[in-house]
Amino acid sequence: MSDSPVVELIDVQKWYGAFHVLKDVSLSVAKGEKVVVCGPSGSGKSTMIRCINRLEEHQGGRIVVNGVELADDLKAIELIRRDVGMVFQSFNLFPHLTVLENLTLAPLWVKRVPKREAEAIAMQYLERVRIPEQAHKYPGQLSGGQQQRVAIARALCLKPSIMLFDEPTSALDPEMVKEVLDVMIELAGEGMTMICVTHEMGFARAVADKMVFMAEGRVVEVATPAQFFTNPKSERTRQFQGQII
Ligand code: ADP
Ligand code: MG
Repeated sequence: MSDSPVVELIDVQKWYGAFHVLKDVSLSVAKGEKVVVCGPSGSGKSTMIRCINRLEEHQGGRIVVNGVELADDLKAIELIRRDVGMVFQSFNLFPHLTVLENLTLAPLWVKRVPKREAEAIAMQYLERVRIPEQAHKYPGQLSGGQQQRVAIARALCLKPSIMLFDEPTSALDPEMVKEVLDVMIELAGEGMTMICVTHEMGFARAVADKMVFMAEGRVVEVATPAQFFTNPKSERTRQFQGQII
């Protein structure tokens, strides 16, 4: 197994118009590593994570995923997107498709997997997230926690080697947070490489190999959870922890 990082950001710069949103952002993620990203609202967490699968374009620095550099080459972008699953705060399921159809859509049309096989894989992942009985319902008929588990299963159906999560539990009612975190903890235990933007510090303590704290478009601190929670280096991190923990 190679030790080279599977995700590497080197001095990444991004602007929204005149607004410099990511400033010299560097981050290195090894195979199987779990990285938890936190920081105040507006600090650039979503932007950074969206740059990793090119939902947003960066303008300076380098982003390399599984040895492929994200640049204007469409083939490279396609290659990376196949290997990087993403789960959003707002589920983003297709409301007019059943759960099973949501899960098989990309395997059928992007990966050209035969229908029966795509459905078998989908059912397997619905079992993993513990809602196989919901396969024929529409997203609107499910609770938020169930919808988010469908979104996780949908990402897994493409067999990604890296999973990105952008505040996957922050749109959920409190009683549904645990069922989603449990699925994520299980995934972490299976060795998935994960980058999770979340303020669920219990989850972070349980699974993170590395904590990344962002503020105002910069990575302010990278630390192990032990360091991060007991002895953060930066005053900015301390202040933030005072607000959320
Ligand atoms: P976070 O996820 O940490 O809350 P974001 O990455 O969503 O932060 O946003 C960082 C900053 O960039 C915020 O000030 C936000 O208003 C701004 N921003 C986000 N998306 C856009 C966009 N598409 N166009 C212009 N500004 C944006
Ligand atoms: Mg965000």
